Amino acid sequence: MDILLSKELKILHENSISGLDRQQLFHEHILDKINTLIEHKDVEVHLTGKSFLGKPINCLKLGRGPTRIIMWSQMHGDESTATAALLDLTYLLTTPLLAENSDVGVSPYYHDKVTIYILPMLNPDGAKLCERENAQGIDINRDALALQTPEGKLLNALVDEIEPDYAFNLHDQHDYYRCGNDGKSATLAFLAPAFDSDKRINAPRRRAMALITDIYEKCDGLIPRGIARYDDEFSPRSFGDQIAAKGVSTILIESGHYPNDENRQVARTLNVYALLHSIRQICDEDVYSSKDVIDAKERKYWQIPENNENKLCDMLINNLSFSNSSYQADIAVCKRSRFESHFYVNEVGDLSQLHGIQTIEAGGYTYEAGRPYQLSEEIVLSNDLYIILLKKGFSHFVGSTNLIKNQSDYKLIENPEIWHDEHKMKKGILLGGFFCMKGERKFALLIDQIVQF
Ligand SMILES: [Zn+2]
Repeated sequence: MDILLSKELKILHENSISGLDRQQLFHEHILDKINTLIEHKDVEVHLTGKSFLGKPINCLKLGRGPTRIIMWSQMHGDESTATAALLDLTYLLTTPLLAENSDVGVSPYYHDKVTIYILPMLNPDGAKLCERENAQGIDINRDALALQTPEGKLLNALVDEIEPDYAFNLHDQHDYYRCGNDGKSATLAFLAPAFDSDKRINAPRRRAMALITDIYEKCDGLIPRGIARYDDEFSPRSFGDQIAAKGVSTILIESGHYPNDENRQVARTLNVYALLHSIRQICDEDVYSSKDVIDAKERKYWQIPENNENKLCDMLINNLSFSNSSYQADIAVCKRSRFESHFYVNEVGDLSQLHGIQTIEAGGYTYEAGRPYQLSEEIVLSNDLYIILLKKGFSHFVGSTNLIKNQSDYKLIENPEIWHDEHKMKKGILLGGFFCMKGERKFALLIDQIVQF
């Protein structure tokens, strides 16, 4: 995570709240952090609502200025990156540290300019289950019109009460979004959502675009070609779009993948950086006062690379031969969710348009699916024994898997319902089998490991 060593992010990362470096945050992870934050004189609890299962949802308030900003995170329970960022932000806004660091800082006089309402973790019930939806099974972000979830009602009532000038709607996206057609993983993606199906641009939406351009330029300076612009298809049931329709300058931020950063601490820190810069821009009344300036920033907004869905995979295997080398195909391998490490075959064929987070050049190798090892007695698998079995062509184990004591460094494929064959690596099945050259097995594929003999 070298990016966190950049001057700006290093300060923010070093001053992040401890205990939140996790792939998934539950309510219990943030409760004592919130309790500590509200002891500070600058942080008020504006209101506490309840989730469907009765967990408290806190809205914290900082500042007393005329311009009102609302920020919320984790309305989708399995998207917790920005929850950590909002707690970091709240902490940083209460420390003198920022005023001393002009690269990342916000003036201590922000109190007189803005009032900031912060809702970390709008969906604690979904968070507990690591699910997108709430405890009713409803996607809160498709409940902006029906308002059948207590969490959606709470957010809606709060927006009507506060009448914010700016709204920050914070989410996570899956790992396979790419920045433009040939960029890297989109570590952050921004959107000024549409408020009608014609995707018209009014003054608040244009101001949101201008602000996004400003924070994009800051973040792009740290991760070039890693920051994208989300599609603005109108989604009337979604909160971002409905809040934009109320004349609020609304900014969606999606946290995404960064290499070797499963807990998304790069995206967490970049969120803090982007939000701090947003507050700084909003506090400066002159920034968006000129129409020419805003128009120029809007034009730049449209030049931000698009957030391209499904243009990445975890592992791309190029030019693998099948059936006695009678044909070649590329193989895309993906996880079912970012919370697991198992790799499944996702697509086979000409995948030259796809980019792998990891790429394997398999030209010259032929695929062999391997055969099952039938378990009939206890077996203690050392590295040496496992390699012997693999070399004999056993790619997976069937039968009573409690007979295996795996003491090796390698993963086991146990009782697959169906298996690949020499003509076809099958979609939805674990990565397994062998790469062979001149009839000799050279590599074994074991879920997400490639073992060389
Ligand atoms: Zn989401």
